[in-house]
Amino acid sequence: MKIITADPTGLCFGVKRAITTLENELKKTHQVYALGSPIHNPQETERLEKLGLIVVDSPEEVPEGAVSFVRAHGVTPEVFELLRERSAKMVDGTCPFVKTAQERAKTLSQDGYIVIILGDASHPEVKGIMGYVSGEVHVLASAEAIPYELYGKRCGILSQTTQRVENFSALVSGFVSVSPEIKVYNTICRATLARQQSVCRLAEEADGMIVLGGRNSANTRKLAEIGSCSGVPTLWIEHAGELERGWLENKDIIGIAAGGSTPDWLIKELIQKLKMM
Ligand code: SF4
Repeated sequence: MKIITADPTGLCFGVKRAITTLENELKKTHQVYALGSPIHNPQETERLEKLGLIVVDSPEEVPEGAVSFVRAHGVTPEVFELLRERSAKMVDGTCPFVKTAQERAKTLSQDGYIVIILGDASHPEVKGIMGYVSGEVHVLASAEAIPYELYGKRCGILSQTTQRVENFSALVSGFVSVSPEIKVYNTICRATLARQQSVCRLAEEADGMIVLGGRNSANTRKLAEIGSCSGVPTLWIEHAGELERGWLENKDIIGIAAGGSTPDWLIKELIQKLKMM
């Protein structure tokens, strides 16, 4: 069996930066409160918890005077301020690409556009971006979802950083047909784009594709979708332990792709297991 790994794959720049910053802080203080899991990967979260990470669901759960951490997805300006007020030190791990999306949303709103975000309204990154909009904002899951009330309006369009390029293009085309004026910021991050393209290339070579990453990871989900849509049998697993020998039958070339929140040690573990099978 031949194993090919997508290039690039695994931890993206933003998550790597956030986790390194968090780990350095944990080494110094041994206790850091993160608002939400700092990485959409249960195995890596567990490892960080052993170093002293405490994951909370709201800023109010961070004790006064503690060290707090904002993950790569970012937060709303209100939550950012609240954390800053409560904490002795606040470590900001917001990815620079997410910060750009937040700034674009703010500018579009200040310039009088109705802000349209392509994305998942329940995703923390999208909720954070929405917080920067002072006027009307809509989160749309696809081009098909353009509501009639937006027809004829001035709309400013951007995207959750991990959306598929094809979906963003389709949404923009949809607005071209119904709006007299649109302003578009492509806020899909380069790391996401590069990982999506690497899965497309891998699909041309592999007989089967394993996508490795947390079930709660939006960008891993997109990679698994791309793999499935390309027609190659695609298996989405969180860790090597979930891989069963039966799935490998009649497959000579196995492609491995990992989401932007999948640490290297999980990828190595999977390759080792494949080599022993
Ligand atoms: S996927 Fe992109 S935007 Fe999100 S954390 Fe990684 S580099 Fe930043």
